[in-house]
Amino acid sequence: MTIQKILTVPNPVLKQVSRPVKTMDDQIRKLMDDMLETMYDAPGIGLAAIQVGIPLRVIVMDLAGPDEDPAPMCFADPEVLEDVEEMRLWEEGCLSVPDFYEDVERPERVKLKYMDYHGKEVVKWVDGLFATCIQHEMDHLNGVLFIDHLSRLKRQRAVRKVQKAERDRAIEAAE
Ligand code: ZN
Repeated sequence: MTIQKILTVPNPVLKQVSRPVKTMDDQIRKLMDDMLETMYDAPGIGLAAIQVGIPLRVIVMDLAGPDEDPAPMCFADPEVLEDVEEMRLWEEGCLSVPDFYEDVERPERVKLKYMDYHGKEVVKWVDGLFATCIQHEMDHLNGVLFIDHLSRLKRQRAVRKVQKAERDRAIEAAE
């Protein structure tokens, strides 16, 4: 397994719309394995393929708590078939917008359809953190970041913060 470099804002690749996988094969499973490794290393709870520069509709997640066994989940071509009017407010973060957190409101429950690691089609309702996280990740597949749900001012502040942190790291590395 290989740890991939995670792209950060304002990298234009993150705005790309990803294309469907359609059929599961070893190449997609290898991508999922690499993405899980990259996500655990970061560490984070969700990652979309475009965040490692690959424009395919592939997502990995693990919502297990710190004291629980890892529970990796893989999704290909996920779709929301139905959602509910009730909204859930959650302070979101993103590996592509490091060290920036803001509240985002999304439907509390969604009916999902996706292909799993083995290529099996799954249809199920999910709620809570699962619903929040999968909707955040599915936004990535359409080139949308969680900061795109915020005001322009907050979005600019987030991007500037990431750029400044990267500049500071580059200077440190050069010294
Ligand atoms: Zn994200």
